[in-house]
Amino acid sequence: MPLVEPVIRPPSEAESFLLQVTVGCSANSCSFCGAYRKKPFRIKDREEIEGDIEEWGRLSPETRRVFLLDGDALAVGNDVLVPVLDRLDGAFPRLARVASYANGFNITGRGDEELRELAERKLRLVYIGLESGSQEVLDRCRKRSSADEMVTAVRRADAAGIKSSVIVLLGLGGKDLRDRHVEGTVAALNRMQPRYLSFLTLMLVPGTSLARQAERGEFELPGQEELLREARDIIAGLELEGTIFRTNHASNYLPLAGRFPQDKDALLSSLRAAMDGKTPLRPEAHRGL
Ligand code: SF4
Repeated sequence: MPLVEPVIRPPSEAESFLLQVTVGCSANSCSFCGAYRKKPFRIKDREEIEGDIEEWGRLSPETRRVFLLDGDALAVGNDVLVPVLDRLDGAFPRLARVASYANGFNITGRGDEELRELAERKLRLVYIGLESGSQEVLDRCRKRSSADEMVTAVRRADAAGIKSSVIVLLGLGGKDLRDRHVEGTVAALNRMQPRYLSFLTLMLVPGTSLARQAERGEFELPGQEELLREARDIIAGLELEGTIFRTNHASNYLPLAGRFPQDKDALLSSLRAAMDGKTPLRPEAHRGL
């Protein structure tokens, strides 16, 4: 069956088989997010999901990676997810990893045994949009998962054998909550110790409530220089013991890549060079979501 568009996946899942288990996002509340505004949340019919697996299994039996769509496919219970993962394993003999976006409550709402059950069936990676570690910033943008809940989710997933790729949204504190955004994000990430970390940079999406707040002057988007400083201050505060870091998303002004802890100083030097005008930044016209 054709995918219900629009479809969003992380850059690192470009080669994965995209299996749509749910349509939309079960939270669909964040003021900055326009991704699923026109896609009310629903779980796809089991027959439809199984049909898609069978069809792709015939077309591309060598598939090694699968990404479950849409916004938080882990919103479905293990009663649905476990048979889907079993089918995937049966259809793709070389399957190495299944990944999905997840909200914090998708993880914390499961018991440890349920999480292990998913990990044993090759669900090995979840992408979690922390956005900010500041509860004030999260409340203002109406994120449904709390910062503490997302910290717990990453730690419990990790203990069960599911790695996390955590996403931070630069600029979400606006100009007024910028310091709290930085401090809270540093604190949450240091508690999480995620396996992967990426930054995205906030873009105001027309039609979202954040874009309307900006039009009314209730939210001020930080400028390019301020956003680079924000990235620098978050990185400077991080004490991560084994994290792969990327800013390869098209929304960012500066692509960075490295590993914590060993590349922290190099990442800060790259940011300094960009702030001093020594490194070209991605032109505004080339940014996107
Ligand atoms: S949880 Fe993620 S996908 Fe859902 S509304 Fe918020 S940002 Fe968008």
